[in-house]
Amino acid sequence: MTTPRGEMLDTLTAAVQIPSITPTYPGEVYADLVGAEGEVSRLLAEVYAEAGAETDIFAVEPGRDNAVGVIHGTGGGRSLIFNGHVDVVPPGGASGWRSGDPFDGVVEDGWIRGRGTVDMKSGLVAQAFAARALHEAGVSLRGDLILQAVVGEENLENHLGTSAVLDRGYTADGAIVSEPTGGAWPLSVMAATPGLLVMRIEVAGKSSHSSMRGRMLCRPSTTEAVAASAIDRGFVIYQALRRLESDWAVTKFDPLFEPGHFTLAQWGVHPRLDEHGVRGVPPAGGGPGGRAQGDRGPHRARRRHRSLAARASAGGGMAVAVSGFAGRRDPSALRRGHRRP
Ligand SMILES: [Zn+2]
Repeated sequence: MTTPRGEMLDTLTAAVQIPSITPTYPGEVYADLVGAEGEVSRLLAEVYAEAGAETDIFAVEPGRDNAVGVIHGTGGGRSLIFNGHVDVVPPGGASGWRSGDPFDGVVEDGWIRGRGTVDMKSGLVAQAFAARALHEAGVSLRGDLILQAVVGEENLENHLGTSAVLDRGYTADGAIVSEPTGGAWPLSVMAATPGLLVMRIEVAGKSSHSSMRGRMLCRPSTTEAVAASAIDRGFVIYQALRRLESDWAVTKFDPLFEPGHFTLAQWGVHPRLDEHGVRGVPPAGGGPGGRAQGDRGPHRARRRHRSLAARASAGGGMAVAVSGFAGRRDPSALRRGHRRP
């Protein structure tokens, strides 16, 4: 007979084995991936139903289903959301995985392996089974418990996931997101989220005969360059960004985050020379007890990057552009004593 723990592990393994890579993730082929997120949502909705929840499966974008389960309270209590995302980032080369299969979901020595196990199918499954355990134990909560499994988190598509679910009316007094955290200590309770800005920087060069390289170096023109190396200029920008990052490492602090948390990252999973993410613009208001940064973090970061680009493009008649902010998440923090308005 399968124990509840065994059922929970089986559900997690089944969830990990669904390759629910965000279909819009840079470098991925949408048509190959769309639909898998919804499979995970439906798997979770089954557990929500077993927990006595009224379920709702819906999509803003076809094939990208969110799942919601509402366990109605008996009345007079405050409501709570359990939220998590069903999509995962691409696994990279299969050869980098011990078994050669990033989605095998194998249980080995007490560990479950596979892309998305920690971030964050284990959290989603734990939430669903916590609700089911309450139901099986005959516990009735006074407030509503609302379970949410959402799509699109890894590419900042909250309009398809969490925001869509909230807009559909599934709101509550409080929410617990079982996203793995790595703040002051691993898997700590985080009452703040840093901002994130994803941008693409394009550097244009000017083609010429290879013999023009010397003239390019020795007789730079501020109006019409005979030739220009996009790679050289790209490194100027890269080094400026690295200096800014080093500066942030010693000037931006929040007690909830490790020193050096606020960084400029080349997009972590798919390193691309032309793409940078600004991770960890400090939380608005600095978080509980944190240094107040105001809510201008992303704007300031954006201005700073535009000015870096302008500086790198000065001289040589080259076009350097911050050609669009592919995604943006504002920082936010709960304050002590926070109550739903
Ligand atoms: Zn996550």
